Amino acid sequence: MTSRTNEPKERKDPPVRRRAATVPAPVAIEIFIAGSVHVPSSKKACAATGTFIEEGDMRNKGKCIPVVGEQSLYTAELFAALEAVKMTNRDTVLTITSTQSYVLDAMNKKLPSWENDGWVGVKHRNVLRCLATELKARRARTMFKVAAPGSPERAQCKKASMLAKRSARIQTEERWDLTIPPDTALPGLPLQGNRQRVFYRSIWEIKSQVLSPRPSTLMMLETVRRDVETTFGRHVTEADIWQAVATKDILPRIAQFLWKGLHNAHRIGIYWTHIPECEDRAICQECGVLEDLNHILLGCKSPGQEIIWQAAESLWRGKEDKWPAVSLGTILGCGLAGFRDENGKAKRGTQRLYQILISESAYLIWKLRNDRVISRDRAPTMEEEIRNRWKYHLNQHLQSDITLANRPHTGKRPALAPSLVTDTWSGTLDDEHRLPTNWLQEPRVLVGSRAFPRARPGRHNSYTLSALAPGRLKVPVVFNVGGDD
Ligand SMILES: [Zn+2]
Repeated sequence: MTSRTNEPKERKDPPVRRRAATVPAPVAIEIFIAGSVHVPSSKKACAATGTFIEEGDMRNKGKCIPVVGEQSLYTAELFAALEAVKMTNRDTVLTITSTQSYVLDAMNKKLPSWENDGWVGVKHRNVLRCLATELKARRARTMFKVAAPGSPERAQCKKASMLAKRSARIQTEERWDLTIPPDTALPGLPLQGNRQRVFYRSIWEIKSQVLSPRPSTLMMLETVRRDVETTFGRHVTEADIWQAVATKDILPRIAQFLWKGLHNAHRIGIYWTHIPECEDRAICQECGVLEDLNHILLGCKSPGQEIIWQAAESLWRGKEDKWPAVSLGTILGCGLAGFRDENGKAKRGTQRLYQILISESAYLIWKLRNDRVISRDRAPTMEEEIRNRWKYHLNQHLQSDITLANRPHTGKRPALAPSLVTDTWSGTLDDEHRLPTNWLQEPRVLVGSRAFPRARPGRHNSYTLSALAPGRLKVPVVFNVGGDD
């Protein structure tokens, strides 16, 4: 028998090995972003972004935002998010972490309504639109996260903030590409389901693009910006100034006066120099100088401004030791005043009293001037009347505050927080040491007598001002006046 060892053996087919389908894990990255604003003395503010990935990463960087546009923490955060999106591959899962919720709120909550309204009336829409377009072009997920205080993410955000601060101090001019590809966003706004006010706003925006800013408005805004920075050490933007005039703590008629003042639109001074036979109206007849707003409110010799500002200072010193210098800029920008305690906490009540005191005083000076020039044929107002009117207007504001603090709005909360009212007026009330801590229910609460010396015996005049007790606080209010000369 011959062996058949040389013949190839029949081999069975190897078992089929089923290999598990390997799906590559998505690459993920977390980028920490921050913004920073640097305000050098006597120079414009500069905002910068900071993006941080991890220690030693070459992509960590700080970058100034475009010079044209608002230099604020909000805009810096938006640009930082845009930078983070642009530096990341579109197939990489991206998490953008910040200490602020600006970007998260903008992209997760407000974006649908902004897009529906065709971005009409949206501030910083150039960067917001660009950010939205970049996010939509991504193929992987993008998440926004707010770092909780004390968390490791917070520490990483601080590193991003350091990068931003460094760049803001250097103030280099960086290039930002904010162009939006034409095929990624529809122009205009949808007609269907939109509101009339959006259409009007859109038309107004188109028309205002061809209007150049008024030189006198720019000049007044610069005055306010400079004076607020000098007096309160606070850098404010143009938007801050307009917003401060519209605060609800300033009465509408006074807000309108301040608004016209910011536009230099009052019919005084230089307004009359171009009108034939009216040129003499440009000059203050008492002082012989150009009658501009600064002269009326702070420089005129006619009885009014000096008495009122002395009274305002005297009343203020019952609350605070330091009386901030009064200038045209701080009057028009009284809503921008900032006061802080030794711990750096904002003194809301003090700030509110300053707004009320300055705005009411300035408006009364303006009214006195109009009475003198227009109604009384240049006859000056008596000093006593000036004092009474000043006290009257302040007391009206106080009584209005008390009424609002005592009246529930629609539910259980009052229209004005009682604690804010007491914080505002504490230190300025007559016989305050005799009042209870919560004096809002007390019938006879007045302000203003502190501003003038007490009446001397035998020279005591009394006036009953029923108008001082609005709403349900119908109590007779006796106003003590006089004894100051
Ligand atoms: Zn004058």
